[in-house]
Amino acid sequence: MSSDLWNKAQALFAGGVNSPVRAAVKPFPFYTRSAKGAYLVTEDSRRLIDFVLGYGPLILGHAHPKVIEAVKDQLERGWLYGTPSRAEVELASMITKHVPSAQKVRFVNSGTEATMTALRLSRGFTGRSKILKFDGNYHGAHDYVLIDAGSAASEFGVPFSQGIPTEVSSTVLVCPYNDLACVETVLKREEIAGVIVEPVMGNMGVIPPEKDFLPGLRKLTSEYGSVLIFDEVITGFRLGLGGAQSYFGVTPDLTTLGKIIGGGFPIGAVCGKKEIMDQLTPSGRVFNAGTFNANPISMTAGIATIQELEKKEVYMVSERAARVLAEEIDRAIKMDHIVNRVYNFFQFFLGMKEVRNANDARKAKRDLYVKVHESLLREGVFIPPSQFEALFTSGAHDDDVVNESARVFKKVLEDLT
Ligand code: PMP
Repeated sequence: MSSDLWNKAQALFAGGVNSPVRAAVKPFPFYTRSAKGAYLVTEDSRRLIDFVLGYGPLILGHAHPKVIEAVKDQLERGWLYGTPSRAEVELASMITKHVPSAQKVRFVNSGTEATMTALRLSRGFTGRSKILKFDGNYHGAHDYVLIDAGSAASEFGVPFSQGIPTEVSSTVLVCPYNDLACVETVLKREEIAGVIVEPVMGNMGVIPPEKDFLPGLRKLTSEYGSVLIFDEVITGFRLGLGGAQSYFGVTPDLTTLGKIIGGGFPIGAVCGKKEIMDQLTPSGRVFNAGTFNANPISMTAGIATIQELEKKEVYMVSERAARVLAEEIDRAIKMDHIVNRVYNFFQFFLGMKEVRNANDARKAKRDLYVKVHESLLREGVFIPPSQFEALFTSGAHDDDVVNESARVFKKVLEDLT
């Protein structure tokens, strides 16, 4: 039973969990026993339709047969060599083929490591020390990105977490998302090494970039000699094979990837312009290393996943599911609201008609969102327990899954809003 496991977990883990959002499922998180396609099965033997999908990686759905086959084959041949392997060459070739900015790649083990390395690269490459990020963008759990300056545009960042020295946070500046005037002011005033941005914000709910935002960032960073970093840990291989940079037609200098490129196994990657990537050790002097970097299991699962994505069917199915459900949700909510969808991921905000930056998102009726989440869960549909996450769809979210969940969304939303 989930309740028994939860009782034990509280003595074992801070807050009972190993990543904070998991504790947001109340009164306690359900424990998952198995997963297949669009469904989770809990330790309480409940079957749930999953719109969380491991927070984004599982674009093929759970336990896809092609990934199982590839990983099994790799397991038989060993799973960690401490030497290069064929799989890393194959996966990197796929990435450089599809992602416009990717000339060279460095594999790491999480999105956190990828952004940490990309920011260090931008500093090493430019010889500058300051970073610009955007309010509400999440780039992982290391010191340089857990900074959130709130409303005051272009002020030095205030740490979001205890334990971050002011010597670190004072090198990170923050602008509101979609605010190019702020970016220009900062770039003019400060020597900025790198500007890091989620090309679609996926960590304050979903917030799309306005039409001029990404082209404007490209133009301004080129003008002021800063490295433009797209954090595509969510959007990479989700908005199509070329990620957000293909979708919006803007090519950054560096890109961070994670989630989908490991097919659901731990992974991260930095890729980008040759002359910047070559600054990494051993060819350059910006340090990165890792025991598990390019481990054969994550590589193999990533290759199998991208091979499926190259067939395009998964994109069609996941886009249709997200579109149909976003429309259904839009129709069912009676109060003021907005559903922000980009291709195959989305989020809804209650009590407001527009969400274009983090401050807007903070004003949504989050308590009501949580009630909706709880009601959906009782009815067998799992959406993120937090307003500030996204609903994802996969190639397993076929018409049957969409129809079944649409019925539940309609009932719950008409009832609660
Ligand atoms: N960047 C973005 C845009 C993310 O959404 C996340 C995680 N959700 C990360 C970086 C960090 O990735 P990881 O959890 O693999 O460290």
